[in-house]
Amino acid sequence: MTENPTAFDNDFYKRLFDHLYDGVYLVDRNKKITYWNNGAEKLTGYKSSAVMGKSCEDNILMHVNDKGRHLCKHFCPSEKTIADGKKREKKLYIHHKDGHRIPVLSYFAPVKDARGKVLGAVVVFSDNSAKTAILQRIEELQEMALNDPLTELGNRRYAEITINSRLDELNRYGWNFGILFIDIDGFKRINDTFGHAIGDKAIKMVAKTLSNNVRSFDTVNRWGGEEFVAVLVNVKQDQLHAIAEKLCILVGESGFAIDSKNVHITVSIGATLVNSGDTVESVIKRADELMYQSKSAGGNCVSVMQKM
Ligand code: GH3
Ligand code: MG
Ligand code: MG
Repeated sequence: MTENPTAFDNDFYKRLFDHLYDGVYLVDRNKKITYWNNGAEKLTGYKSSAVMGKSCEDNILMHVNDKGRHLCKHFCPSEKTIADGKKREKKLYIHHKDGHRIPVLSYFAPVKDARGKVLGAVVVFSDNSAKTAILQRIEELQEMALNDPLTELGNRRYAEITINSRLDELNRYGWNFGILFIDIDGFKRINDTFGHAIGDKAIKMVAKTLSNNVRSFDTVNRWGGEEFVAVLVNVKQDQLHAIAEKLCILVGESGFAIDSKNVHITVSIGATLVNSGDTVESVIKRADELMYQSKSAGGNCVSVMQKM
C-alpha cells in the first residue's frame, strides 16, 4: 500500500467495486473518505470528487437511525469499527444530495494492514426501500425470462420454480400452501366474437383482477393461454376455499364494453392444498382435475380438494 493506506490504489478492485449496485466507500482513521464508488454516487447523488477527503458528517450522508438520532458525531459506526476492529451491520437512513432520506442497510468492516493494525474502515450500503426490492425483482424476472409479456405475471416456468421452493419449505419447516388452477370459461367464443386483440385485453383484465386480489406474498402466474396458477402461502382448507371463491366472484364482476357489447368473463377454479409427498406435476394435475369438475358443473365456480 502507498502513503495513504486506505486510498484505493488497486485498479482491479476499483473497477470491480464500480460495477456494484451497492454503494462502497473507504474512510481512513480520521474518518476522511478516501474512496467512493459509482454505486455510492448513484445512491446518494454525491460525486466522488465532491466527497473525497471529507468526512461523511460534513453535510454529506449525515446518518440517522429510525429514532432520528444523528450518528455521525457521537455514535458513528465507522468510528466504532476503527476503534474495536469489529464488523457491524446497521439499518440506517442516509441523506441524499437532493434532501430526502433513503433507508439503507450498511455493513462496516475494518481495513487492516498485514500486522492487523486498523487503518480505516470500508462501508458497503444498499438501498433498503421496498421500491428497490420490487424493481429488482421485476428486473430479475425479465432477465431470467420468467415473466409473461402480455400479462406481466410470472410465466409457467416461474410458477414451477415457486411451487418447488414452497415444496422445499413445506418439507423442511411444515409451512402449508395451496394451489389454484384457474381457466377462463368459453374463451374461444370471446376470441371468435370480438377478435384476438380483445381476447388479449380480456386475458390482461383477468390477470389484473387475480393478481390485485391475492395477498402481497401470494403469486398469480400465467400457466398458458387462458389458464392461471395461483400459489397461496400459509393457508388452511377454509382460507384456500374463501380466496378461490373471492377470486371467482371478482373475475365474474370484471368487464369492459366494446361497441355497446359487454365483454364478460367467468372462470372455473380447482383448489387444493399441497402435501409433503407432492411434486409440481402431481399438484398441478390434481388442481387441473378439480378445475374440470368446476367446468362440468357449468363453470363460474370453485371445486376444492377435500381434506387430505
Ligand atoms: P372451456 O370453457 O372449456 O375452458 O373453453 P375455452 O374456449 O375457454 O377453452 P379452449 O381450450 O377450447 O380454448 C382456449 C382458447 O384460448 C383457444 C386459444 O385460441 C385461445 N388463446 C390462447 N392463448 C391466447 C392468447 O394469448 N390470446 C388470445 N386472444 N387467445 C388465446
Ligand atoms: Mg384452457
Ligand atoms: Mg378455457
